[in-house]
Amino acid sequence: SKQTLVILYGGRSAEREVSVLSAESVISAVNYDKFTVKTFFISKNGDFIKTQEFTATPSADERLMTNETLTTAQIVSPASIYEKNAVVFPVLHGPMGEDGSIQGFLEILKMPYIGPNITHASVTMDKIMTKHVFTSVNIPQVPYVALTDLAKIDEKMAEVTENLTYPVFVKPANMGSSVGISKVETASELRAAIDEAIKFDSRILIEQGVNAREIEVAVLGNNDVQTTMSGEVVKDVAFYDYKSKYIDNQITMAIPAEIPENVAEKMRKFAETAYRAVAGTGLSRCDFFMTADEQIYLNEINAIPGFTQFSMYPLLWENMGLAYSDLIEKLVELAFETFKARE
Ligand code: ADP
Ligand code: MG
Ligand code: MG
Repeated sequence: SKQTLVILYGGRSAEREVSVLSAESVISAVNYDKFTVKTFFISKNGDFIKTQEFTATPSADERLMTNETLTTAQIVSPASIYEKNAVVFPVLHGPMGEDGSIQGFLEILKMPYIGPNITHASVTMDKIMTKHVFTSVNIPQVPYVALTDLAKIDEKMAEVTENLTYPVFVKPANMGSSVGISKVETASELRAAIDEAIKFDSRILIEQGVNAREIEVAVLGNNDVQTTMSGEVVKDVAFYDYKSKYIDNQITMAIPAEIPENVAEKMRKFAETAYRAVAGTGLSRCDFFMTADEQIYLNEINAIPGFTQFSMYPLLWENMGLAYSDLIEKLVELAFETFKARE
């Protein structure tokens, strides 16, 4: 008999458009000899809405239902996603999706789910917490100042002047897809950037800006961790922001990245170490900076990376010989492995 794959998409974060595109890629690639797919849209308000069911590959132009096509009358209880023996794929990014909350809910429901566990998701969602964990396992990172007490903004700004050089990057600790992030060129713009970041989170990270190439490594597995050769995000714009990333499509990827072998090997080791340090399960994309003198820094771990067929994460695996639909099946296997270990 076929297995039910429950896909959660949309979500409360600013990254909901990416989520919808990723979910649409998944439904068109799933092997329908093995799976039946049920989908649920999570609205901006956090409401669950039951959307389409698929028993065969949908036509290429079929779109998943979103806000524009749904009414509040269709809202269901989140617990109604439960089905015995089903596996859940939360194809969600950012807060309330990739931060441990959905994962905790799925554990309460006793459902196996794809991707990061609660710890993995919550630690990697917080850019300051991530820094602490990376430091504890000697992963190289760019210098930074963490602002965690809003009464100390002036003090922290003085610390920035003392310890960092411009440009710096100001980031809310808890976002993704470049939302709320500013590149600050001079001290006079720092305060405004902090005020902007505070709109999204009360924990703010101020980082040394580096002039670097952006190289990414895909990680897959639970106890048995596998990494890929790296890929490069080749930027046409100075700052890889939300608009350039997702709307204008102003990026191209080079897979494998053209970087020295020894640097690539080091990155894979750092990626695995970092993944284990954050209690990684399922998958992650580790994003590095590499400077002209081949210094490498780990920037972040994305626990649920963009997952369209044209996204870096699946393409990195394809380059290793693991096709997109096989990758989905591998993730399902890993989901059951952690589920059984939890029972
Ligand atoms: P997000 O989680 O939103 O992707 P990132 O920390 O990856 O946030 O920052 C988004 C982008 O901003 C990066 O991909 C990179 O282009 C740029 N960036 C962020 N931090 C730095 C830094 N310290 N130096 C140089 N560029 C940076
Ligand atoms: Mg991120
Ligand atoms: Mg990033």
